[in-house]
Amino acid sequence: MDNLTKKVIERARELGADLVGIAPVERFKGAPLRMSPNGLLPEAKSVIVVAIHHPDATIELSGEPTPHDIDSYAVQSTAMNPMLDDISFLLARFLEDRGYKALPIAASNIWRYRGYKDLEVNFAPDLAHRYAAVAAGLGEIGWNGLCLTPEFGPRQRFVSIITNAELSPSPMYEGEPLCDKCMECVKNCPTDAFRKEVKKINEIEIGGKVYKFPDTNKWRCAWAENFGLSLAYKIPEKVDEEVILEYLAKYGRHIGEIGSCLRFCMVPQKRYYDISYSRAPRRRKEILIKQEKKLLDKIKEICEGELVDIVAIGIKEDFVNDLSIRPEYYLPDVNSIISIGIKVPKEKLIETQEIKNTILRRINYTQFKIAHLLDMSGYSAICNTVAPDNLIAHRLGIYEPETFFSTIFTSASLPSIKERRVERKENLEPEILKRFCREIGADLVGFFNKDRYERFCKLLTDLRLFQNESKEEVIDIGKIYGPYVPMIKKTEDSIKRLDDWVPKANSVIVLGLHFPNASLDTAKVTPAETVGPYAFVQYETLNLLSDMAYKVVKRLNDNGYRATFTFDITGLASKIKNSRGMLPDMRAHSIYAFLSGLSYIGLHGYPITTEYGVRQRFIAIISDLSLPNDPIYSGEILCENCSKPCISACPTSAISYNTIPIDFEGNKIKIPKFDSFACDWAKRYCLVGEEGPYYWNVDVNIPVPKEKRIEDVVDSVSKTHWGVQKLHINIVEECLRKCIANGKFGT
Ligand code: SF4
Ligand code: SF4
Ligand code: SF4
Repeated sequence: MDNLTKKVIERARELGADLVGIAPVERFKGAPLRMSPNGLLPEAKSVIVVAIHHPDATIELSGEPTPHDIDSYAVQSTAMNPMLDDISFLLARFLEDRGYKALPIAASNIWRYRGYKDLEVNFAPDLAHRYAAVAAGLGEIGWNGLCLTPEFGPRQRFVSIITNAELSPSPMYEGEPLCDKCMECVKNCPTDAFRKEVKKINEIEIGGKVYKFPDTNKWRCAWAENFGLSLAYKIPEKVDEEVILEYLAKYGRHIGEIGSCLRFCMVPQKRYYDISYSRAPRRRKEILIKQEKKLLDKIKEICEGELVDIVAIGIKEDFVNDLSIRPEYYLPDVNSIISIGIKVPKEKLIETQEIKNTILRRINYTQFKIAHLLDMSGYSAICNTVAPDNLIAHRLGIYEPETFFSTIFTSASLPSIKERRVERKENLEPEILKRFCREIGADLVGFFNKDRYERFCKLLTDLRLFQNESKEEVIDIGKIYGPYVPMIKKTEDSIKRLDDWVPKANSVIVLGLHFPNASLDTAKVTPAETVGPYAFVQYETLNLLSDMAYKVVKRLNDNGYRATFTFDITGLASKIKNSRGMLPDMRAHSIYAFLSGLSYIGLHGYPITTEYGVRQRFIAIISDLSLPNDPIYSGEILCENCSKPCISACPTSAISYNTIPIDFEGNKIKIPKFDSFACDWAKRYCLVGEEGPYYWNVDVNIPVPKEKRIEDVVDSVSKTHWGVQKLHINIVEECLRKCIANGKFGT
């Protein structure tokens, strides 16, 4: 194995991978071009496939009494997919930082439901990770169509990264067959998807081996699993998009389900039954860590890394006479109960939506990491149950207000503990703070103080710039699939002050994170004609920046400062449509990235840096810590001598050649002028095919109306047929795609 491959595998393991394999692109020769590594990245040579194991108890004990009762299986969406997304992004950056091209693919949930042009595959992801996993030697396709591995059967989730690096291929799996055709997947499927509407038996060739399994009707399979329709209905004999939309319109969305083809499957080599525990097969495993001290140290290490404020471990006997809490309801072989808490002290940590989302994400990661550690050590462990977390914390003596708690149950016998995180008193000198921000992953760090922000805001207000012209927006209050149900909402009409965020605020710390170049370079133009990888890195960059900002805020809080963070410091930013909902657009960062000296504002209104051009996102951390101003950007202005392809590329003519010159702290700056109504028409309301919908097989192309009334938006979004694809329409801003600021310059 060559050195780079070793390093990639090592890095993947460090980031949390349980399995890693390398597939050379030749093993994908049977894949449709639009869903193949070379269709996505023509220069691709290898695909790295990574898996995280799904803790057994979260599968064995979920789905009762009905598959709709997901309970702890939800870790797949609350922790596993997000962790795989992190790995995908960070491994791509690892390769890019070493000079290679790397295209990270999302773990899940970015699909073309209705295929695309000659791609006659429904529910098409950019790359099917399960086939990539087989090509990377990790396992085999079972009758249920899932990749089964010798270690975990079907109990893992995968992610893939495509690269032009020629890595050493992993050998194909050559062991005993992993599917013995027990047909439990077929018998237990609640929609009968392996018998009804099966088009044919697939014969898929990967790396010289042929896998046979039913070509199911995905619309039927997705009835409850994806679309959340109740399994109590009599499912029609023929299911397609129209049927799904009809049932959603008539009955609404009920809830998703745990896939029974996953739950009832286990490879014969690891399978055993214990009906008193679960109707599903169990996975045979060995106890690998017997010393309770070693386990405890590892649990503490996770808590420390995740900045958990309070942790307690109790034993099942602590609950013997408890009428409200029965640990054995959640894990029949329970021995220990772990309660973890993250504090949100309101006087120090000012809550924003971004902070709420981040704390929830950290709690979800922590509980999953602990359950996963115990499971991989040979014990049963479960989290994300319906157990009363606050009450358990109370019984274990650690309950405190303003704290989010969660509970992990395990068969491991652990010593009882009750511990609190020691606050870290640190030197917060500017350079030391900057170094810390870089250590936790920020590519760019800059500061500015309140005075600079206030002066700039006054200038903008006096010039009537960056005001939200319409002062109204349209939001969709409909369901995630089907018609857009428009509602007009008033928006902020004046710039937020720093004191609106944190009382007596003094400064702002700005962090920037670059997203892999290949995500924008390949968008719309390679044979796959997809915008999926770009959509992925957009939400992922925001998630990773939130995690970094959270660590900085905790450090500020520990040292007695109040702090919060946001992507939209002015409160006036617009949004961009993404599979993960409406994200703040990149112009949301423009003012604070500029004031921190990290960027100038490009003609299209987006931040441009000498390090990455337009290819990064930013976050602002506002606090009452005093910090000095970094110098305003005074480097090369690429826009000056540019032929301005951003203007010609914009499908709504939203960008103007004219700019407004201002003088700020002795710097001559040109503030761009753009038509936010026209821009939103394309990137927020998805009414212009070329900007995104077209690539998702959604036929919409409505010219921007002359009058620019909000009622025109209402009219246009409500008359467009979005179908189920509405959830997964993603945009790539044409002006960004064509911007010449596509990497390092001026140095
Ligand atoms: S349940 Fe049995 S038949 Fe189905 S995929 Fe698993 S091992 Fe194969
Ligand atoms: S393409 Fe980029 S660099 Fe050129 S004018 Fe437009 S924003 Fe500036
Ligand atoms: S984001 Fe799209 S619509 Fe908006 S200015 Fe850029 S190209 Fe035009």
